[in-house]
Amino acid sequence: MQNAKTIKNSNVKIKNSFWKEKQELVRKEVIPYQRKALEDGVGGAEPSRCMENFKKAAKAKEQRNRRIDTPVYPTDKWHYTDDNSAPGAFKGWVFQDSDLYKWIEAASYSLQNRPDKELEKAVDNAIELIGKAAENDGYCDTLYTINNPSARFENLRDFHELYCFGHLAEAACAHFNVTGKRTLLDIAARFADLICEVFGENGKAGYGGHPIAEEGMLKLYEATGRKAYLDTARLLINRRGTRPYYFDIERGESTPENRTKYEYNQAHLPVREQKEAVGHAVRAVYLYTAMADLARIDEDEKLFDSCKALFDDITKRKMYITGGIGSTKDGEAFKYAYDLPNATAYAESCAAVGLIFFARRMMQADFNSKYFNAAERSLYNCVLAGMAEDGKSFFYTNPLEAEPKTLVLDGRRSHIKPVRQKWFDCACCPPNIARLISDLSEYCFTESDNTVFINMYESCTADCRLAKIDIDSDYLNSGRVIIKIKPKKPAKIAFRIPEWCDNFEFSVKNPFIKDGYAYFEIDGAQTIEANFNPRIKIMKCNSRVRENTGKVAVTRGPFVYCLEEKDNGSDLHLLRLAKSPKFSFDGENIFANGYRQEPDGEALYSEYKAPREKLVRLKFIPYYKWANRGENKMTVYIRL
Ligand SMILES: [Zn+2]
Repeated sequence: MQNAKTIKNSNVKIKNSFWKEKQELVRKEVIPYQRKALEDGVGGAEPSRCMENFKKAAKAKEQRNRRIDTPVYPTDKWHYTDDNSAPGAFKGWVFQDSDLYKWIEAASYSLQNRPDKELEKAVDNAIELIGKAAENDGYCDTLYTINNPSARFENLRDFHELYCFGHLAEAACAHFNVTGKRTLLDIAARFADLICEVFGENGKAGYGGHPIAEEGMLKLYEATGRKAYLDTARLLINRRGTRPYYFDIERGESTPENRTKYEYNQAHLPVREQKEAVGHAVRAVYLYTAMADLARIDEDEKLFDSCKALFDDITKRKMYITGGIGSTKDGEAFKYAYDLPNATAYAESCAAVGLIFFARRMMQADFNSKYFNAAERSLYNCVLAGMAEDGKSFFYTNPLEAEPKTLVLDGRRSHIKPVRQKWFDCACCPPNIARLISDLSEYCFTESDNTVFINMYESCTADCRLAKIDIDSDYLNSGRVIIKIKPKKPAKIAFRIPEWCDNFEFSVKNPFIKDGYAYFEIDGAQTIEANFNPRIKIMKCNSRVRENTGKVAVTRGPFVYCLEEKDNGSDLHLLRLAKSPKFSFDGENIFANGYRQEPDGEALYSEYKAPREKLVRLKFIPYYKWANRGENKMTVYIRL
């Protein structure tokens, strides 16, 4: 296996481009809006109570420091509301603190992209408050600090202390890398030190029910060089799923040897025996991200074999064409292979974001284009659909078919919204989308000892260890990309050949092609032009996907397209694409000839006759743009 680094955000500047616009949207709309939401300042949205909790925790700590007794409240719920808990107690979900950490992470990356004094000050103020809420021994979780400090770490399976730590650590590393300030890093490191002590070699043999502490620890190790963090991350990963189950010990239960439990938490088997993606999809990809990272650092082939099997299981059998993962609302989880229902898809925005995290770590250890092919699919479709075009509302789940009326009346689809929501009481997705988009420059390049890999074709300038690179990209339209390379020493440049591309051209002939990357030897300043020639494609699902038999989807380049009622009239299920359609493309939308079946009369059942059809012109829009013109029907798949 290989060991390469991604080029840091600070060394890559994205120029005017598709993603620059999205980053600006996140900077101007999403980050200020989220800040307001955290402070409960958004009218009509469920109050977050997040900042309120940090203030309450700071006060409780201060009182205890002055030896004033503070009230004890229960710590037995996932969600604390005004109806089920006392006014002075913690409010919101058990993981409410993580919303602030994700906001700080997104804001930090955004400061890297564009300095902003006011935003920097707001981040500093938030960090100061976190510092006041963190306890004297480093512990930092407002639920327990407010409600009952003596109940810490008693329910790792359900009550997200290690999860919140993971987000704190990720935010701290982002903030430190961008600003050079150690304020949040020191807070995270003190909590990490406590976790190393409590869960170290001689401590409790636990691990979190919702992974991310593992990757948080690994990022802290990278930022500080402190080996204890690497050792603890390894322990958290290696203990997972071993017998007796820690989650059983926690609650005085036992599971017979011939049965498994805790698939939901990916704690059913030791990680090296996990080969199939199961359970809650966000938890899964967060864990797999850390496993891949650790496997690379430790050169642990066996662990990496599991990561490869898990990545393949997701992307070859359990991923929607939009890059969404986790097909069922039941446990927000992966189900079985090829079970990809369109109208009841869960496909949480966070899970698609997490798949991109996982893909990046995989690419650092295995130079194969399949990782960024999947990341690209998720990014341009499922993730981007998660945010409205004006950056003011968000999707939590991302179906491939929507009938607004049924969403209200059918409990099986109650998780799906016909239009994006301003905010959610469980607001994991919007800040996750914000932190990924703000940090996108970190995904563009991976660098090994002798090769710079170009993963994404954004117009940007990059200062890599081996070369300076300047990209002018028309990747999404004509597919043409011009890359100027100034090597600092003789090196190889490897271009990812996108999965959708079946006709690539390079201005320099005869590249060496391996695992989906085209390699060029560079020993002096050079310009290479690549053309990936995107074309409109009619795509089918594997025949094992029962739902889409006889149906197709339309794609161009990385974008998956969909049909909306606004453009194509109601009853989208009565439409079909002509067998050899004539396509046209206006730079954004795709048009094609098709047919609309005439609707039947009143009889629910009647003897079959060939349906009457009329010719229609179908209009397909990029999937990520759906539901930006109000509530209406949508479908990705159409009959052929
Ligand atoms: Zn989410």
